[in-house]
Amino acid sequence: MAPKKKPVKKKNSGRVPLENNAKPEDLSTLSKKELNERARKFSKQYRVTDGDKFQLKKYSTIPDVDMGPEEKPLIKQTLQLGVEELAELQDKMYAQDKWSLLLIFQALDAAGKDGAIKHVMSGVNPQGCQVTAFKVPSAEELDHDYLWRCQKNMPERGRIGIFNRSYYEDVLVVRVHEPLLQAQKLPEKFVTEDIWENRFKDIRNYEKYLYRNGTKILKFFLNVSNKEQKKRFIERIDNPKKNWKFSTADVNERNYWDDYMKAYEEMIRNTSTKESPWYAVPADNKSYARMVIVSAIIKAMIDMGLEYPKVSNEEIADLKATRKILIDEK
Ligand code: ATP
Ligand code: MG
Repeated sequence: MAPKKKPVKKKNSGRVPLENNAKPEDLSTLSKKELNERARKFSKQYRVTDGDKFQLKKYSTIPDVDMGPEEKPLIKQTLQLGVEELAELQDKMYAQDKWSLLLIFQALDAAGKDGAIKHVMSGVNPQGCQVTAFKVPSAEELDHDYLWRCQKNMPERGRIGIFNRSYYEDVLVVRVHEPLLQAQKLPEKFVTEDIWENRFKDIRNYEKYLYRNGTKILKFFLNVSNKEQKKRFIERIDNPKKNWKFSTADVNERNYWDDYMKAYEEMIRNTSTKESPWYAVPADNKSYARMVIVSAIIKAMIDMGLEYPKVSNEEIADLKATRKILIDEK
């Protein structure tokens, strides 16, 4: 076990300031086109495009609009609209059967991964979506390369796949805790100081390969502050209904906060690409995080140019003939 380090609080120096007490907008009167344009603009501010220069401290953990109790109905309505739009897009993607969408969620504990997944997918036809949670690898999984267990769970065409954790754990927790790398049973000659750079390169190539084969990947880092994580852990202890979620091991991981932040920063810097971007989602407010996520998914799906399959004139004639047979049935 690595020696324990003192917990260090993350500074929120990069937070986006509230401008004139900005409020969420009423979106109910907007046309679909305008709504989609809002989703695009809203999510853009959290999409990582600065590659090599990416710095986590420049991304806020808190919303940049007022999320007080007064705004609750508006936020609820915005989320509802987003989920409905998402469901419609997913229906088209399923019918078209060409693209698949992979949503990767990475975060420290209590950042709200589970809730975000549950909410975002609440309107989607369960037939068109599959969720996989990646835990500590089993003995069988450790007998393979780290992408193996993920490849087995890639979404089929037309479907949305959700990874609750992913191969990115292999450049995060495995990087922070040296013994986990040893447990991967790699030939010694590959365990060098270049291993993380090499993994980033392999992941970039892997995601490029997937994209060229019709899998769009969006990656969400739920960016929670040290203070908010502490608050949520205490809530899990104080609320009997949340006790089952609490784990002392998760609290111990707080001792490695700085190491995790460094690992996340390097990972995002090295693996955010135009085709498969990372979103650094402010996660101190759960509703806000969900709005960012839904917007990013809508943007990506619109960019796919999804359409219901076109029916040929011949097929229309067939449909009409069949309709007549049904009507004439005695
Ligand atoms: P929840 O706690 O909400 O159920 P979770 O995703 O935290 O969800 P856990 O079973 O608590 O699920 O934790 C999974 C653990 O597995 C995490 O600590 C994660 O870092 C670890 N893990 C995932 N992939 C790997 C890996 N490749 N090597 C080592 N540990 C891993
Ligand atoms: Mg956990």
